[in-house]
Amino acid sequence: MPHTESAPDTLRQCDSLITAAAEDLAAGRYRAVLGELLRAGVVESILDPAAGVGNPARECCIALERIARHSVELAEAVQVQALAANTIRRHGSDRLWSALGPGLRTGEILAVNCMSEPNAGSDLSALELTAVRDGDRYRLTGYKNWAAHAAVANELIVYARTSDAGIGGITAFLVPADTPGVRVSAPFEQLRGLAIPVSDIVFDDASVPAERILGRRDRGALVSDILVTQGRLGLAACAIGLGDAAYERALDFAGSTVRFGQVLIEHQSVGFTLADMATGLTAARQLLYHACAGFDRDPLTSTLVCAQAKLFATDTAARITADAVELLGASAYLPGEPVEHSMRQAKLLQTLQGTNRIQRLTIANRLRTDAER
Ligand SMILES: Cc1cc2nc3c(=O)[nH]c(=O)nc-3n(C[C@H](O)[C@H](O)[C@H](O)COP(=O)(O)OP(=O)(O)OC[C@H]3O[C@@H](n4cnc5c(N)ncnc54)[C@H](O)[C@@H]3O)c2cc1C
Repeated sequence: MPHTESAPDTLRQCDSLITAAAEDLAAGRYRAVLGELLRAGVVESILDPAAGVGNPARECCIALERIARHSVELAEAVQVQALAANTIRRHGSDRLWSALGPGLRTGEILAVNCMSEPNAGSDLSALELTAVRDGDRYRLTGYKNWAAHAAVANELIVYARTSDAGIGGITAFLVPADTPGVRVSAPFEQLRGLAIPVSDIVFDDASVPAERILGRRDRGALVSDILVTQGRLGLAACAIGLGDAAYERALDFAGSTVRFGQVLIEHQSVGFTLADMATGLTAARQLLYHACAGFDRDPLTSTLVCAQAKLFATDTAARITADAVELLGASAYLPGEPVEHSMRQAKLLQTLQGTNRIQRLTIANRLRTDAER
């Protein structure tokens, strides 16, 4: 049940490229694959167009959903780059964007958002990496973990503490990955079979010019808020693509397998499971598009609906992929059968850009504030 309405032509033409890229990604050719995809224009629609023309967030999500149907890891890789590029464009100086924008579009420059630290995953206000002013530069010292595609990145968006004012004392810096004092670890082993390289990064008195601040000093939380809100939309789109592929696999299996003298789909309980899957996907997609419209109107007032879209779509994908595994029975565990891998991927989507418990917390906090008014 792929959704193709208003999918960009470039994407329609690029389906075979996406399939080939997904295979290359699994073989570890990460940087080359991402570059090929970006140069072919697959990602063009994902880079936030300059000024509210059309419905950019929705176009971006349609593209990500399409990629995720083939490979959710590829979609996540594209989303990492797109979020970083959009953040640099939105919050960086014109000079920074003219220097880096063309390379970010073609994949010659890869960038990544480095927010997480061992004691600051869900809670940005707890971050400990410090940036100390030194004339017209800042010196960064500390540690980041879980930085996706950092091992191949040229630019790192780093959140650092510039004052003790909690969430109001954080500044976002754009740090060249080859800055002396920055050490990116080799990608480390994760849950079996995930293709995105993830690294830790040490900052040891790394010196960065003040002109590389994104947004304003002590206003890094704003930079992060917009990025995370947009990231939640992208993850919802990835979840829908992933869930849709698992649903189609389950539908195909249920329509072609006979048990107890009947095609599986004719057993009412199986038909009902498929009905729930299809309904969940339709609802998730509509909620996502509603959230996209909100984000395009104003990213800062759309946090509630973007959290809802991420929560609903990723929970739906988790349920669909688990149901697909159950429906396929033992054959779900055979080599080459994608639904079992999809089930683990869906679980990851529930965790990224704030766990779904954090999405519920965001929604509940907002409901409480509204009730107190
Ligand atoms: C493959 C992968 C790629 C990633 N890529 C990146 C990246 O590129 N850049 C980056 O910055 N980060 C990245 N991350 C980190 C990711 O964003 C975090 O893992 C995620 O935000 C959750 O943070 P945490 O794991 O530190 O959980 P924690 O904050 O340590 O939370 C642990 C548990 O406590 C719960 N919890 C926390 N606070 C509350 C609360 N107030 N109430 C109730 N429950 C709570 C959480 O839901 C969770 O279950 C990546 C992670 C993975 C696995």
